[in-house]
Amino acid sequence: MGNTWVRTCWFSRFCILDSEWSIFIEFLVLNLSEIKTLTSQRNLIHDEIIPAGSPWDAVVHRGQTLRIIDVHGRQGVDFLCYNAKNLSERYHAPNTLKAAHNIRIAKGSILYSDYANSMMTVTADTTSSGHDTIAGCCSSWSNEMLYCAPDTPGCRENFLKSLAKYDRGWRDIVPNINFFCTVPVYEDGATEESVFVEGSSVAGDYIEVRAEMDVLVIISNCPQVNNPCNSGEPTEIELKIYNP
Ligand SMILES: [Zn+2]
Repeated sequence: MGNTWVRTCWFSRFCILDSEWSIFIEFLVLNLSEIKTLTSQRNLIHDEIIPAGSPWDAVVHRGQTLRIIDVHGRQGVDFLCYNAKNLSERYHAPNTLKAAHNIRIAKGSILYSDYANSMMTVTADTTSSGHDTIAGCCSSWSNEMLYCAPDTPGCRENFLKSLAKYDRGWRDIVPNINFFCTVPVYEDGATEESVFVEGSSVAGDYIEVRAEMDVLVIISNCPQVNNPCNSGEPTEIELKIYNP
């Protein structure tokens, strides 16, 4: 009788322990799942919609990542960056292209400065055709030259608005990157009559650039309607900054 009671008691205790263990395991699994979700999400510290045709600027600190989202697809994004601690050092297209052995920016590309320092690295790119590095920004002057369209706003004007905040100006604008823009170059070196052709990015495509130093990023969400770089209808973009 005594032995039966002991056996029952131990069995009950085992069942209780088993039940507690199950609850504990369930708790652990649920929380591990949550922890995994949280750790897979980087720390988003900035999220902003930039209207069509508008400028934007911000300092992106070393280690942070800037994601540029082409919200509606086929929208050109003119991009420049400067060493935030020495604005005389800036993005340099020739050093970037010589290091990449390619005229287009893609995942893995490093954006070099005129001092040949790595400024930013392209860590993600959902597009497949690369991004233009040679056609530069539009401006009211180039719109008049190319399209007989004087007094139309361009990316150079947007760059100037942003640079003025940092006591910088015309002399600080260098040939920029045109994210989500396609500029075909043929074997004989020729380009298209329109220079830009319609981009291939689709809604939600994005590129990410990680800062390798503290950088001042200047962006113009291109207002161009005279060539196909924005498909004739400039649209908003979204910018997100993540801590590492
Ligand atoms: Zn433009």
